[in-house]
Amino acid sequence: MKILNVDKLNLGFDCEDGFWQALWDVSFSLERGKIHALVGESGCGKTISAMSILGLLPKKAKITSGIITFEDENLLKLSGKSMQHIRGKKIALIPQDPMTSLNPLFTIGYQLLEVIKIHQSLSGEPAHKKAIEALEAVQIPCAEERLKSYPHELSGGMKQRAIIAMALACNAEVLIADEPTTALDVTIQAQIMDLINKIKSECNTAVLLITHDLALVREYADVVSVMYAGRIVECAPAGKFFKSPRHPYSIALLNSIPENRGKILETVNGQPPSIRQDISGCRFHPRCKNVMDICSKEVPALLDIASGHLCACFLNSNN
Ligand code: SF4
Repeated sequence: MKILNVDKLNLGFDCEDGFWQALWDVSFSLERGKIHALVGESGCGKTISAMSILGLLPKKAKITSGIITFEDENLLKLSGKSMQHIRGKKIALIPQDPMTSLNPLFTIGYQLLEVIKIHQSLSGEPAHKKAIEALEAVQIPCAEERLKSYPHELSGGMKQRAIIAMALACNAEVLIADEPTTALDVTIQAQIMDLINKIKSECNTAVLLITHDLALVREYADVVSVMYAGRIVECAPAGKFFKSPRHPYSIALLNSIPENRGKILETVNGQPPSIRQDISGCRFHPRCKNVMDICSKEVPALLDIASGHLCACFLNSNN
């Protein structure tokens, strides 16, 4: 069941040297109990799409059109105060770097209780009990003791668990996990992803997983959207996507995963364009091995090419 829908989101940056578009008609939806992975190279628009949902955009960012629907409300029309009730309580963020997301001056307990007080309207013993339950749910041992710890006393994995506990304490219905394991070492990465997966299944939470790690996506995602230079270029159920990717960019990304020993890895030639580069037609055409005449002249539409498998490429459509 769909819980959040991003529909034709267009966004740009109002800079001194002009207005530069960064997102073009970005559309995707999140379902309860499913992990939707948003993948692509750095700078393709993954994080800014997520921040649009949370209403946490930088000052220069301007949404020019589009709708973000959550519980029958367009989040883009809500006031800052109304968004405060949704952000953290109903839609929570697991940030990339847990080291900088917790306040070093306050204990984990203080920070967790503050969230519970604001979003759950609890105080005293019930709030304390809820905080312990939240830490236990993310498998932090000696939860009562850990409430008294300062962030610097916890490992990176523990800090990330504490942040996930804050999201859980508020019973968030949507979790936005922005590269949640990038700052952690490999053994902890798997634990955190297993935890997010468990939350998804047990709490029926919708998860938006932002990552450039396709191995992670293969293991945990239910749906995959690939972004390139501010556009969604492919979207499919994960099984279909990994079995039969259709967009040349997705194929190039998958061929660049170091999986098979002895196989020469492919690279994607060139660099993703900056938002200041004006590229006509398909924005991938300067790097595409399959480029055709039409590709630099027209923008391929994102079309359903095989029962829920969407792709924006002239190779796969008659558009
Ligand atoms: Fe390549 Fe053309 Fe397809 Fe773009 S539309 S991905 S340039 S073949």
